[in-house]
Amino acid sequence: MNKVSFIAPCYNEELVIEEFYTRLCQIANSYNQYEFQFLIVNDGSLDDSAKILDRLAKEDCRLAVLHLAANVGHQNALFAGIEMATGDINITIDIDLQDPPELIDKFIAKIEQGFDIVHAQRLTRKNETFFKKFSAKVFYRFLSITSTAELIEDCGDFRAFTKIVRESIIKYREKHKYLRGIFATIGFSQSIIKYERDGRHSGQTKYNLKKMLSLASDATLNFSRFPIKLMFIVSTLMWSLSLLYLAKAMISKFMFDTTVDGWTSIIFFQVFFSGVLLFFIALIGSYVGRIYEQGQARPDYIVHYTKNLKKDI
Ligand code: UDP
Ligand code: MG
Repeated sequence: MNKVSFIAPCYNEELVIEEFYTRLCQIANSYNQYEFQFLIVNDGSLDDSAKILDRLAKEDCRLAVLHLAANVGHQNALFAGIEMATGDINITIDIDLQDPPELIDKFIAKIEQGFDIVHAQRLTRKNETFFKKFSAKVFYRFLSITSTAELIEDCGDFRAFTKIVRESIIKYREKHKYLRGIFATIGFSQSIIKYERDGRHSGQTKYNLKKMLSLASDATLNFSRFPIKLMFIVSTLMWSLSLLYLAKAMISKFMFDTTVDGWTSIIFFQVFFSGVLLFFIALIGSYVGRIYEQGQARPDYIVHYTKNLKKDI
């Protein structure tokens, strides 16, 4: 084991690239026994990220850049990087320096102990909005209740893994990737280290509400059968209740000869059940939509050009 690849997705991060690169260089200089690759995936940035990356790559062949033709989102960009990385040890990391790259010491120590996957779990989140912290909490709680997989709470995509894990991960061909779920369920010997998550070095979060919701729905639909169970539970409740109601109506009719007073309850049930049914049709639709997308088998990303990457694309 003598090569370490840092894999970082980058979307409109012109303000942090140089600082990130400097921090990685400092680390590389203190580890003489390893060769380094800094693989940055430019996820269709619209700012000057591409220019900065190309300039740095020209002067340093350790810095490899994969320029994607369009923005495909954090998970796909990260996956593209994992596919291209050549390290014996690979470390996926955000470029905004919220994940301190200096944690490499602990990662390498664990891998030398024989672990194949080392997750970094956040103890705190500095400088993040109340909404971000709150939504993350709800998200991880919800997943831990609904998911069949043992997902690790408060664990993002900052982790180290060996070459054999990298080779296994790239065999996962699902369209809507949720890498945290894939890593948690892939097996091998895994370990967790804890760290304090820093605030963003500069710039703003690229995860807007829409991207967060889409990640949450990918996590739920890919790693939990809860939505299907929910349909079963609610529909059972519904028809049980309607049977009760029917019994009540029959008793009123045949024992007390009172006609069933109707309007309000009919309208209520009509609207209520139609709503529930539509909701479930939409749920089934989200699975069918995924089958459709998987059937289309479009590429996850298109490569525009690369710098310092020897691998064929
Ligand atoms: N990112 C990306 N594509 C996107 C959105 C984000 O490659 O469409 C990258 C971004 O540059 C950063 C990482 O994914 O390196 C995490 O994004 P961000 O820091 O904005 O998310 P947060 O930490 O706020 O959850
Ligand atoms: Mg961030």
